Amino acid sequence: MLNIENLHVSVDDKPILKGINLKVNSGEIHAIMGPNGSGKSTLSHVLSGKSGYTVTQGQVTYEGKDLTGMAPEIRAREGVFLAFQYPVEIPGVSNIYLLKAALNSIRKHQGLSEVDAMDFLTLIKEKVRLLEMDEKFLYRAVNEGFSGGEKKRNEILQMAVLEPKLCILDETDSGLDIDALKVVAEGVNSIRSPERSFVMITHYQRLLDYIKPDFVHVLAHGQIVKSGGPELALELEEKGYSWVENKQAA
Ligand code: ADP
Ligand code: MG
Ligand code: MG
Repeated sequence: MLNIENLHVSVDDKPILKGINLKVNSGEIHAIMGPNGSGKSTLSHVLSGKSGYTVTQGQVTYEGKDLTGMAPEIRAREGVFLAFQYPVEIPGVSNIYLLKAALNSIRKHQGLSEVDAMDFLTLIKEKVRLLEMDEKFLYRAVNEGFSGGEKKRNEILQMAVLEPKLCILDETDSGLDIDALKVVAEGVNSIRSPERSFVMITHYQRLLDYIKPDFVHVLAHGQIVKSGGPELALELEEKGYSWVENKQAA
């Protein structure tokens, strides 16, 4: 589904990612961890199509197509969900309106007609129930005055409604409490499926207590220095990142 080959990325001519290789198959959850400054956010920004990141070598393909050449909205229509797609507050635009517009944009791309208003209501209410959310949430302006946990919950709702094939999540350390982490985890677990893959870039080992990844990768100095199964996260918790970083130096 996703194939990252020898990816080198620079920001302002400064090399940040130095040869990332990663293959994600259908249904897999890959966690990317690593110390501060290792390049985790850079990787998520490149996958999201944020400007200012230059691919200097290598390539990223999604379902065989060049991902880095696609505009962010095209990525979305092709089934890639980027957690930071709608991070902004949009006063006056309700959540339910935005979700419907986003879903219709994807349907249009797939050659489908606009979703019927009643069908959409049924669909969204089902998702809201699944995620144990309050329906009132749907009618609030997008992200306006949302708490950290509510923003996360909303992100998960977007995922549940848009049904992407590949979800890229970057869990930055910006004020996520344990409850918000659980929201993310339960949401991801509830939409996990053999047809859907996740790349979870996480600053928190604790998140992986709630979501069991198939693979864990450690990023250090712009390279994946170690890959393993879920047990690697536990080992890191015990021994810290210096353990793998030193390994690379040795
Ligand atoms: P992480 O998310 O793992 O903490 P980042 O991807 O944010 O790491 O940063 C990786 C490295 O790239 C750091 O050394 C950081 O200082 C540098 N970096 C990130 N963004 C920029 C930028 N816009 N300009 C210059 N250096 C940057
Ligand atoms: Mg950082
Ligand atoms: Mg970061």
